[in-house]
Amino acid sequence: MHKIIDGKVVAEKVLAECGQEIESLKKAGVVPGLAVVLVGNDPASKVYVGSKVRKCSELGLYSRKIELPEDATQQEVLDVVLDLNADPQIHGILVQSPPPPQIDEDAIVRAINPAKDVDGFHPENVAKLALEDASGFVPCTPAGCMRLLKEAGVETSGAEAVVIGRSMIVGKPMALLLMSKDGNATVTVAHSRTKDLAAVCQRADIIVAAIGMPEFVTADMVKEGAVVIDVGINRVEDSSAKRGYRLVGDVAYDEVVSKCSAITPVPGGVGPMTIAMLISNTIKAARQSLA
Ligand code: NDP
Repeated sequence: MHKIIDGKVVAEKVLAECGQEIESLKKAGVVPGLAVVLVGNDPASKVYVGSKVRKCSELGLYSRKIELPEDATQQEVLDVVLDLNADPQIHGILVQSPPPPQIDEDAIVRAINPAKDVDGFHPENVAKLALEDASGFVPCTPAGCMRLLKEAGVETSGAEAVVIGRSMIVGKPMALLLMSKDGNATVTVAHSRTKDLAAVCQRADIIVAAIGMPEFVTADMVKEGAVVIDVGINRVEDSSAKRGYRLVGDVAYDEVVSKCSAITPVPGGVGPMTIAMLISNTIKAARQSLA
């Protein structure tokens, strides 16, 4: 096992597999298509949307970026989603989060055709994940974490896993994947009300940190030889950095690295996997549209 789990390398491997699938789908007359809807001017969202669309065109996927103004109404966003639901060129639809406050994000997600919900946030896909129905779409970030564990040769079966965070985007689906018949781990989900988090974490053979707090998981919380997956992406001020900030994870990497058997760095760990799994889900949606 490599101690530093290189997300860029694994993401490239996933994308190379995707490239082969795209070719075979094209031979069957289908070009997988992804639509990314951006509402408003959030700078981070613009960067994410740009990189998703760029990755699609690099791989020969069809992609469409739909930008709506900051003051777009709920109905305008819904109308875009309904058009995309009906568009045969589009197999995957993603509405970039977070939208401006006047938009009810849950209602938008529920309006997406579940067969095109490549983010895996629609209730039907959430249920399919819980039911272990493989036709559903698994949220990209936890799916990426599972793939990283697999590629790093980490045995999840029988392992004590602690997931810190219970969001619908990361923590909850991650826990479901780890406890599934595929993961077979014994899973504890910790959150802000957990008592003695350090003691809970110390039991873990695998820690998945999805908290959103810079360098929150410290060495005293980690058992010797544990595997640590750091989902966090936090900006911290750094006057020596060109942009005035640097990115750190939810794990205090410098002190944890010497204690664990494997760890994902930030950046270059989980981050690159998320977009690779999005492409993979879009291809799956295109393939399933043929059935
Ligand atoms: P959320 O804010 O939705 O969830 C954070 C979770 O952490 C909550 O469940 C919260 O508990 C828990 N938490 C907060 N404080 C504590 C504490 N003191 N002790 C224990 N648990 C705590 O975040 P997300 O799940 O969306 O994201 C988590 C991190 O992952 C962020 O840094 C985000 O940027 C990153 N991220 C990275 C992605 C990638 O591609 N690599 C993709 C998505 C997210 P409670 O429920 O009780 O409030």
